[in-house]
Amino acid sequence: MSEKRAINRRKFLGAAAGTVAGMLTLGGYVPGSAQNQKSEEKSGGLIIRTLGRTGYKIPVVGMGVMNADNPELVHRAYELGIRHFDTAYSYQRGRNEEMVGKVLVEELKARDKVIIATKINIRPPQRSLPAQQIKDMHRRMIDESLTRLRTDYVDILYSHDVSDPEWLKNPALIESLVEIKEQKKARFIGFSTHQNMDSVIKTALELKVYDVILTTLNYSLFDYTDYLNTLKKAAAQGIGLIAMKTQCQQPWYREGQPSELRRFYEGPVLHSALLKWVLRHEFITCAVPGFTTFDQLNEDIRVMNSLDYTDEEKKFLEDKMVKTQMAAVCRLCGQCVSTCPARLNLPDLLRVHMYASAYGNLLQARETLEELGGKKAMAACENCSACTARCARGVNIGRRLEELKAWLV
Ligand code: SF4
Ligand code: SF4
Repeated sequence: MSEKRAINRRKFLGAAAGTVAGMLTLGGYVPGSAQNQKSEEKSGGLIIRTLGRTGYKIPVVGMGVMNADNPELVHRAYELGIRHFDTAYSYQRGRNEEMVGKVLVEELKARDKVIIATKINIRPPQRSLPAQQIKDMHRRMIDESLTRLRTDYVDILYSHDVSDPEWLKNPALIESLVEIKEQKKARFIGFSTHQNMDSVIKTALELKVYDVILTTLNYSLFDYTDYLNTLKKAAAQGIGLIAMKTQCQQPWYREGQPSELRRFYEGPVLHSALLKWVLRHEFITCAVPGFTTFDQLNEDIRVMNSLDYTDEEKKFLEDKMVKTQMAAVCRLCGQCVSTCPARLNLPDLLRVHMYASAYGNLLQARETLEELGGKKAMAACENCSACTARCARGVNIGRRLEELKAWLV
């Protein structure tokens, strides 16, 4: 390691051990205020941003814990300065929350030094249940989550996986989340969205109920100007924005790409360049990459010190071939549904494929497929001699569904 890098690393670790603990503050809450949005500071070499009207000040890189099952990785992430940890009621059938609570709360005794977010997943078929049942489910699930997390509050509670704006407006959902917030079991409430993000977030802007949004943002969306403008408006309204799926972990790089791209993928450049691209949007407070190895963790945390591109990162992002391939990443937009005679829920099926192929998380893939109806969700494919579903962006839908069938059905 060069002397300069060694010094930077020491500064970084020093900050992680000391200064970061003092950064976690609750600012004054001013509804609808954008006063905190522009704030960015450096502390001990780390870039710190304020999470909208929550007032939480956190380093720009957090941890999406979903795919991780090694407590040592969570421990190391904390040691290296990560202070935001994102989990969910459903991840690993509750074991993910258990791990977060055991490491951060029980072992490290760091509850007051970290921002913990979890999510309650009321599945789409359950969203039309009577209001009382929806409320009872929320009450039960938040209590289970808090027990697993070994704490009496979470910092952020999301409604999980919102792609239909109507769900955000559901009075039973709003009353459930507000009740949990009033009971101080969650300090702030919000939702996560990976599909139809633009209209879902536009609806949230009208409702003015949700404090934080966990949303998909990555380089494949570089030309989705409407969505980027909507995110800017959300931040201006004081909503805290956290980005997920930042490194575009989709199989685009495996589908017969030339070795030049694979070289980028295999090296750290792809991760740091893609993460920086997301975080250079100032309306994003923090990203939650889902690293599962110590090497990936080390790649991601380098970004916490500087968002300046290196020459190699610039070269990667400007590479025409990379841009072309990025344009072919599935945006889960749903436009292909009309090209499938059976009108299958293709965006969700493609998301299951992403969990299995890109994340290597077969358990999450299986559970999500179960939520969609299991085998039945793809039964119609048996009647097609060849898949006619088409994507204007070039995603090979038929091939991905074949793979999905071979892996899970
Ligand atoms: S395959 Fe294409 S059309 Fe279908 S959801 Fe993905 S990006 Fe949209
Ligand atoms: S094979 Fe393709 S076109 Fe046929 S039902 Fe399945 S997704 Fe639709």
